[in-house]
Amino acid sequence: MTEQDAKDAIDQAIKNMKYNQKEFPCIVCGNPIKILDMGYYDAIELEQNMWDGGTVDPIYMPFGSRLDGRSYYIGLCDDCVEKKEKDGGIIRRRDYV
Ligand SMILES: [Zn+2]
Repeated sequence: MTEQDAKDAIDQAIKNMKYNQKEFPCIVCGNPIKILDMGYYDAIELEQNMWDGGTVDPIYMPFGSRLDGRSYYIGLCDDCVEKKEKDGGIIRRRDYV
């Protein structure tokens, strides 16, 4: 998948975004991250679902940001998290507690 394909996939997913969508694109590579169908599909918030091979979580734009007050969902696949952690683009906060 090219970088443009990834951007197109993300744009399309945002246009189609619903709270109960079954997949979400990785913000880095654009590959789909799919909800694990464990019977919790009707979760109200996307982050309450379990995701196959990645995560979908909210981020919050704080005071000082031009986007102060906005909140977004982003998807990150496991492969991109591992690559970015190696490159220093992501800092591991903690392991499973
Ligand atoms: Zn990815």
